[in-house]
Amino acid sequence: MAKIYDNTYFDNNIIPIEQANLSIAGSAVLYGLSVYTVFPIVYTKNGSLNAFRLKDHYNRLINSAKIIGIDTFEQNWNYNKFKCAVTELIQANTIKETVFVRATIHVNELVAGTRSRGLKSLLSMFIYEAEPIIPQNGAKLKTSVWRRIPDYAIPSRAKVNGAYINSVLAKQDAIDSGYDDCILLDINGHVCELSAANIFIVRSGTLITPGTSSDLLEGINRKTVLEIAHILKIPTEERNIDLTELYIADEVFACGTSAFIAPIHLIDARIINNKQTGPITKQVKDIYWSILNGTNPTYKNLLTPIETVA
Ligand code: PMP
Repeated sequence: MAKIYDNTYFDNNIIPIEQANLSIAGSAVLYGLSVYTVFPIVYTKNGSLNAFRLKDHYNRLINSAKIIGIDTFEQNWNYNKFKCAVTELIQANTIKETVFVRATIHVNELVAGTRSRGLKSLLSMFIYEAEPIIPQNGAKLKTSVWRRIPDYAIPSRAKVNGAYINSVLAKQDAIDSGYDDCILLDINGHVCELSAANIFIVRSGTLITPGTSSDLLEGINRKTVLEIAHILKIPTEERNIDLTELYIADEVFACGTSAFIAPIHLIDARIINNKQTGPITKQVKDIYWSILNGTNPTYKNLLTPIETVA
């Protein structure tokens, strides 16, 4: 289990993690009625801290709340206030490594029943060690026995806590079978994503990923990979991918905040690219890390410096 830092942000206050608790009678606990995002804060060589695509994360969080109908949050918040809250949280802890921040809007109205509007909500944030959720040098994936929940049942582009039972089932199924993670297919049998990462394949020099109307989460790293490909002049396609295309792809990789860029070397016992990380994956991965580490001037605008002293 990843290390969690002691001080958290909870309902406008900095408090120790043991005290940051939600009621057993609140909607967040009863129905998983919370939305969240996770973003990295990168510790650079000179000891400074940068949040990656903070504004995109805030926007997705707000949009998730909007889709679900949590309407009491945005009235009191904006991006600048969020950035100040992140800074306050960072300053309340001593950070000497790259970390993840999990920011969640919880509905904490007690016994409200199965509804979402006009209910009390709060923001919580905690910091934890940035351990990747899958191996970084050749992960093994298994097609899940579970399908990705369709957008018409639980909105896929909203990051809703309760919906993550779908990911839990699929990831555990993969681990039980000796794999690192799963491939969730959509209800039509097309490739959708991993338990908590998006997927890309390379076929004949083209980078291909399922489109955003394929019941997947609109990953911020997915968007970053497409932007990197654009700059590198690598052709891209956003379209349906059949499972069998994965088996014969030249390269496959996953991307996400907690997966980073993870080459995939085995899918359902089929070996991908002779278990070697392919050239396009390598190129994208190298640029991705230069962006995160702040050494790539072209993408400096994707980083938000976080002041470590008040
Ligand atoms: N899909 C799912 C289901 C996820 O949980 C995540 C992780 N947030 C992703 C994709 C990747 O999204 P991002 O790049 O924004 O981390």
